[in-house]
Formats: sequence, C-alpha cells, structure tokens
Amino acid sequence: MRKVILIFLAIIIILNSGCGKKEEKTQLEKIIDRDVLIVGVSTDSKPFGFKNPKTGKIEGFDIDIAREAAKDILGSERKIDFVPITPSGRIEAITSGRVDMVAATMTITPQRELLIDFTEPYFIAGQTALVKKDSKIYNFADLKKKTIIIALGTTSEKNIRRILPTAKLNGYNNYKEAFDAFKNGYGDAFSTDNTILSGFLDENDNYRILKNKISQEPYAIGIKKCENDDSLKSSLNFTIKRIKNDGTVFNLKKKWKIK
Ligand code: GLU
Repeated sequence: MRKVILIFLAIIIILNSGCGKKEEKTQLEKIIDRDVLIVGVSTDSKPFGFKNPKTGKIEGFDIDIAREAAKDILGSERKIDFVPITPSGRIEAITSGRVDMVAATMTITPQRELLIDFTEPYFIAGQTALVKKDSKIYNFADLKKKTIIIALGTTSEKNIRRILPTAKLNGYNNYKEAFDAFKNGYGDAFSTDNTILSGFLDENDNYRILKNKISQEPYAIGIKKCENDDSLKSSLNFTIKRIKNDGTVFNLKKKWKIK
C-alpha cells in the first residue's frame, strides 16, 4: 500500500513540477539566469553541514561539495545561498522548488528516487550508534529492547524500524535535538550515520561509537525530478566526477577529518 501511495505521489509531483516543458527554460538555465545556486543544507551535522559558532557561517564537507557545483555552474563558489533544512524537510524543499538542490548527508534510496532525482554518489557512509562509554551495549543486538534516539525522516529511522522492531524509538526533528536528548538520558543509544556521530563524539569523550555498521549510505545531491531535462543532473554529475578525479574529494576529506 505504501509503495502504491509513493508511486501515486511521484506521478502527481512530476505532473505538477512545471519543468521539462518545451517552452520553459531548463533547470540549469534558470539557475544561470538567477546567478545564484540555492542549496538546502544541514546546520547541525558536523563535519558535513554545521554553523561555525565563531563566524556564524555554515561550513562543512557537503557545503564545500555544493561550492564546487556553484564554481562549475556560475564560475564562483560564492554565488550560493544556503537554506537550512531538517532531515524530514529535504524532499519537500526539492519538490516545492524552494531549493535547486539538497546537499545534506542524503542517502540514495529507491523510495526517494520515486519522488526526486539523485546525482552519482560522492561519499559512502554507514549507520551505527553512539552509546555511553561505560554502557553494556556493544552491538545492535544489545539494543533489541532498548530505547534508540533517531532523527525523523532519515534512513536511520527506517533501518532501525526494520532491523530492531522491538526497540523503542525516540524521534527528533534534527540532530542537535536528538543528541541533546541522548545526553540527557532519553535513550540508550543515538543511531545515525557514522559521519554525523563522529562529529558529536569529537566534542564529547563520554561516549563511544559501536564498531559494526548496519547499512551502507551512499550520499548524493538531491534535485527535482524533471522529465526531458537532465541539464542540472548532468552538470552536477560532471562536478562530482571532476572532484573525485582531481583530488578535491580527497583533500576535503582531509580538511574535515573524514575517514
Ligand atoms: N543519510 C541519512 C539519510 O539520508 C541521514 C542520516 C541519518 O540517517 O540519520 O536519511
């Protein structure tokens, strides 16, 4: 039933998307005319997308990936506007046209592919969990009857529901709220991608990350599905190929200490 609803939604979105019509400008032309790339990003998932408390600026690995795209499309990494979004708001931000693209630790999944388009992946993460250093939890099997904190609308939420149906879930709208809840004892573990957890671990040495990962999370840029118009997707795929080949991704991983 869920699948039927998703397919139905996908058809409605494509019919109403207002893109791909012959007389209209392409997605890429619209961005070039505007001379600014509008990007949906996370502001609380260090080191991928976060607000630098000293400068107030949004920084991170995903932010730099988006800047590379702006460089290729508009000739400058400064021609970019960042729109903060929550994990569960990512799809709507894209389908409504509020943003041109989302670069926010976003995993490619078949369900999401019914609603939006993805570029090639630029990074592979994996889901794991953060626990208190002195807890008796060492792997996901130990979490079967425990309370697990997740951010709503994420693949982590879905994976836990599937893999640990007997666990209790505590869902939050963003990673900061989820981590604060974990710190304040509202759950036995906080489960999300290893990338995001390592950012929280960096600032707190009372915790540890479980060794096993329960998923592979290929991160890609999400864009609006546009029939007969692959201008933006092609351009972004060009950027991703370029930055993988010319060492930019390698250097960015080093810059943001990402393994
Ligand atoms: N990669 C996940 C997603 O796209 C976000 C991180 C998480 O699962 O918490 O939904």
